[in-house]
Amino acid sequence: MSISDAFDTAVARFADRNRDFLQRMIRQLREDLGLQTVRKLELFHYVDLGMQLDKCTWQYNARFPMEDWRRIAQDTFSKCGFQFDLGRLDIHVVDFGGVRNKVYAVDAPEHIVVILDLPQGGVQAYRHIFHELGHALHYSHFGPTEYRMLRNPDLMERHFTEGIACLFESLIFERRWLRENVGLSGDEADKLRQAVIGAEALNTMWNITLARFEIEMYRNPTAYSNGGMGRLLCSLLSETLGVEEDSPTVALNFAANMVVHQSVKGAVGWVLKMAVRDSLRYHHHDGIIYKDDLAGRLRPIMSGGHRSWIDFFHLIDCEFNFDSMARYWRSAFPEGELS
Ligand SMILES: [Zn+2]
Repeated sequence: MSISDAFDTAVARFADRNRDFLQRMIRQLREDLGLQTVRKLELFHYVDLGMQLDKCTWQYNARFPMEDWRRIAQDTFSKCGFQFDLGRLDIHVVDFGGVRNKVYAVDAPEHIVVILDLPQGGVQAYRHIFHELGHALHYSHFGPTEYRMLRNPDLMERHFTEGIACLFESLIFERRWLRENVGLSGDEADKLRQAVIGAEALNTMWNITLARFEIEMYRNPTAYSNGGMGRLLCSLLSETLGVEEDSPTVALNFAANMVVHQSVKGAVGWVLKMAVRDSLRYHHHDGIIYKDDLAGRLRPIMSGGHRSWIDFFHLIDCEFNFDSMARYWRSAFPEGELS
């Protein structure tokens, strides 16, 4: 099966199983987090919902202070069993408006440069910190062969490294982590998780929709002239997101903001993170990785490079599908509480 066929099959299965859940999730987000009612879920409102969710996290920003990130991060890695000394990294904290976070494996493992663009602290800043430090930790497990592969996108799939970084990024939204490290109560942790995971779900669904659109365009490049592209996108929006957007022009304008290939990457990176989570063979349904033996379980997955994300799924003994991701989303919105 080709990669695009595998993707299509996974999306169809996912849509079938989770359409109702996504609708209920959106309804609950509006009720519990007091998001503005969106009467008709057309594309503008869908995007607006994501922005409202981001704002919901701001009230917790003071609990994620800039002056504590280094201690908290070091502590978290140690508690998960990693011998990873942040003091050995070449870390630069800069102020470019939060868009320049990056890790360079200059002469790794001796020299790994981490750029953190987050002068203000807060929930999103911590998220970036753990994402980038996740990359740094991952690279620190590489040998010379993997470093050579890392420099060549044909040899090492970017999804592989992003999947691992996203895993660490999600670690800080676990209830126990939130309680122990930033002192959130159970109720606060649940609300923050709903806002963060809800936004992630909306964003991933949007990426999946655009990925389907891209794949279809590559398959049939000449089949959609005369406004057919916009109509195709509208029908995918309705099928995948449940968004009834009736303007092909509006739909295409939104899609045009996406760099070609980025949507497939965006979608697959997140799916991969969830699959890694599942492959760690913890209690399958609790979605928790903040545990003292994480290092031991993750180490075999972190070394080595992989030519394609399909290979990677084989390595971790998973089929390529979105089941793990759906389970993770559902963990923030338990079935019983949904009205
Ligand atoms: Zn990354």
